[in-house]
Amino acid sequence: MNINIAIDGYSSCGKGTLAKALAKELQYRFIDSGAMYRGVTLAALRKGLNFSMSEDLIGILEEIHLDFETKADGSNGLLLNGEWVEEEIRLPNVAAHVSWVASIPQVREQLVSQQQSIGASKGVVMDGRDIGTVVFPQAELKIFMTARPEIRAQRRFQESQQKGIEVSYEEVLANLQERDRIDSSRDHSPLTLTDDYRVLDNSDLTPDEQLALALSWVQEAKASIR
Ligand code: C5P
Repeated sequence: MNINIAIDGYSSCGKGTLAKALAKELQYRFIDSGAMYRGVTLAALRKGLNFSMSEDLIGILEEIHLDFETKADGSNGLLLNGEWVEEEIRLPNVAAHVSWVASIPQVREQLVSQQQSIGASKGVVMDGRDIGTVVFPQAELKIFMTARPEIRAQRRFQESQQKGIEVSYEEVLANLQERDRIDSSRDHSPLTLTDDYRVLDNSDLTPDEQLALALSWVQEAKASIR
């Protein structure tokens, strides 16, 4: 029997890495909900929208169609109106504006309803900020991931360097701390740790150790609903 797995937590703490590994292992569908907020942000940037005008952004929502595609090589990424934008949504300019876009209730309502329909048939691993609280409050397993900020910034900085994105360690650290602040303090669906989450601090864990721990929680979650 398939379950839904919600993985929430701070920026750049490896939610996506764990979610992908779990989905592969369990043969579930992986959904990166943050990519969807980044997709809306990219669409707004391309339109040259003024980010202090939320009405403008709400106005373009109906022109935005988001989807996920798995390529022949197995890589999975976001399509914005049919165009592969998986790399472009990771650029610093998108990261700098996404938390503001994600704080607009109408944006959240639209994306949450799309996420809920994807998860309706179960067998989904979705990562984000509000997956266990708002998108799938009934998820059979909820994991809250965290890691020390310097470790998170170092990982994201290395990733950016490998991709040839020009950004300094200090900028990466400042961006993720600012996103954490906005994500945890916004009025609409803030990132919140409730007591039905399993907390996974991966500051000192390898990806394999995290996967093993999460798989043991999957077994427990399945056993408890039998
Ligand atoms: O997960 P990622 O860091 O790519 O998400 C980018 C941004 O999208 C987050 O900083 C947050 O502002 C927003 N987000 C959200 N709710 C989610 C997923 C992401 O508000 N479920």
